[in-house]
Amino acid sequence: MTQSNPLKERLDAGPVICAEGFLFELEKRGYLTAGEFVPEVALEYPDALRSLHVDFQRAGSDIVEAFTYNGHREKMRVIGKEDLLEPLNRSALQIARSVADAKPGNFMAGNISNSNIWDPADEQKQAEVRSMFEEMVGWAVEEGADLIIGETFYFAGEAIAAAEIAKASGLPFVLTLAPMAFQEMADGVGIVETAQRVEQLGADVVGLNCFRGPATMLPWLKKIREAVSCHVGALPIPYRTTEDEPTFFNLSDPRAAVPSPHGRTFPTALDPLQTNRYEIGAFAKEAHDLGVNYIGVCCGATPMHIREVAEAVGLTTEASRFSENMKNHFMYGDNKRLAENVVALGDRA
Ligand SMILES: [Zn+2]
Repeated sequence: MTQSNPLKERLDAGPVICAEGFLFELEKRGYLTAGEFVPEVALEYPDALRSLHVDFQRAGSDIVEAFTYNGHREKMRVIGKEDLLEPLNRSALQIARSVADAKPGNFMAGNISNSNIWDPADEQKQAEVRSMFEEMVGWAVEEGADLIIGETFYFAGEAIAAAEIAKASGLPFVLTLAPMAFQEMADGVGIVETAQRVEQLGADVVGLNCFRGPATMLPWLKKIREAVSCHVGALPIPYRTTEDEPTFFNLSDPRAAVPSPHGRTFPTALDPLQTNRYEIGAFAKEAHDLGVNYIGVCCGATPMHIREVAEAVGLTTEASRFSENMKNHFMYGDNKRLAENVVALGDRA
């Protein structure tokens, strides 16, 4: 008898939406430090994290991903708080579990991601990363995760290690890659080849997340969709990346009157480079038309973007009650009660 796989069943039936990008949003809300980017919020301000999950859930996210991004042993060592590692992970997982439980049909995901210490030439470092992933996946299993999400991998070797460890958990798993500007994985392996390898290791979903906006993610998505037979995932950043500036590490802002003190727009001065909501909706529709059924938005995402994604693929969300409606707008509306002289100002406004 084959084991039941509710995630795969849902994906076979239609789109599944997944919100990511909690680090950026919680930094903007004042709950963690740009640069350090450690998700201590799960311990320090659990209500702030819960509320963010609930907002994304209302906007249509089917998956509540535990906020353990960067919550791994090495990062906690860097900031001298290794003792908080396990409590932080468990708290993030418990918060995600309770939010997912409140909405029938939602999934809770444990999360592992790029460690930023992977070294293709250093087996000792690789073993360290593996053991970090193993302990985090272990906590996720113990806290009742429905699936594991491995994400933002720019080394093929690290993605493969994550896939092997996620697979060993026995849970369904999603694995998404985040290629940098050089259009291959940082260890020189092809992006499509890495996706294929991850599929062979048993991933239910392979795809791309983070780093790239819609314009520079779509060409790779098409190639991956053609090369694998499992489900494909797409979670871009909502920024206007281009062929010349393919990731948010590269984005320039020549119009900025005051540039960031560290000299680049990433990660704190990207705001004017965002896509609008319609561009994100169009991306979601195009990805879905390609056969991509696991769709979301990563760093820069707000609930507004997630609702846009959900609606673009034909879903109605709790937050759809407040979706755009201009008919009573003082300038765009056609309601008879609107003051004609003010509506007329629209052309000159
Ligand atoms: Zn991201």
